[in-house]
Amino acid sequence: MVVSRRKYQANKLDPKKPQNKPGWMPKGACKVVSEFQLKKDIIEVGRRIYNRGYVAANDGNISIRIDENRVLCTPTGVSKGFMTPDMICTVDLDGKVISGTWKPSSELKMHLAVYKAREDVKAVVHAHPPYATAFAVAGYALKEAIMPEVIISLGWVPLTKYGTPSTEEIPEAIMPYLPCHDAFLLENHGALTVGTDVYNALFKMETLEMGAQISLLARLLGGARELSPENVERLMEVRRRLGVSGGHPAMCNLPEGSQASQPGAGVGDEARLKATISEVVKEVLAEQRR
Ligand SMILES: [Zn+2]
Repeated sequence: MVVSRRKYQANKLDPKKPQNKPGWMPKGACKVVSEFQLKKDIIEVGRRIYNRGYVAANDGNISIRIDENRVLCTPTGVSKGFMTPDMICTVDLDGKVISGTWKPSSELKMHLAVYKAREDVKAVVHAHPPYATAFAVAGYALKEAIMPEVIISLGWVPLTKYGTPSTEEIPEAIMPYLPCHDAFLLENHGALTVGTDVYNALFKMETLEMGAQISLLARLLGGARELSPENVERLMEVRRRLGVSGGHPAMCNLPEGSQASQPGAGVGDEARLKATISEVVKEVLAEQRR
């Protein structure tokens, strides 16, 4: 079919035409994202976590699984806010460098363990966002049902046992929770999120940090009021309807009494948390009166 130049121009400019809408692709075309684009996505996510204060100095690490046996990952000893495509390493699932001249992240074992255990995971982000990390340092899981977005996206977030960075201890501590969760608080360390792509993992990190921040602030205002089990169930219905993928504790058959069904060390001790916060508030108020 021959289309006149004028008609072609008119179609091109008409915003109502489907081909002019963002993300449109010709019928039958399949979206192929180049490896270079995925490296750029890692760099963008690195910039975001650095600019948001989720990592300091050279902290944090990001990876994307590009096929069954290859993973792109951030290098060690580099600020995640200032990466360039040549710094991104390609490794196999055993951690062997396939291409790239930079040394892969020292936390690579943690990323690879996740990919080996969960086929649906295509990206992993590790950072130290201050509020979420404060919960992890104080020894609390994020287990309250207080915000719809957090409940739909993550459910409760477990606190996994402390492990020395770069060793097998962290992957081992995460494993019991991995089948049913996409976000983890790493005791005395930071947070880990997994996703269907690198932005999906980043957004879970943002949701986790926002949830932790609001939870702490609500406690300072007298306590977070939890949603009822009925309302939580309705949110789960919303999650089902939206077809949200990934692990979620409320949609997982956790065996009663298993480690994975427990939010983690130090939790459930609400009295300790309440006492600590009210003590701090009292001290701050007394300070102001002086
Ligand atoms: Zn770390």
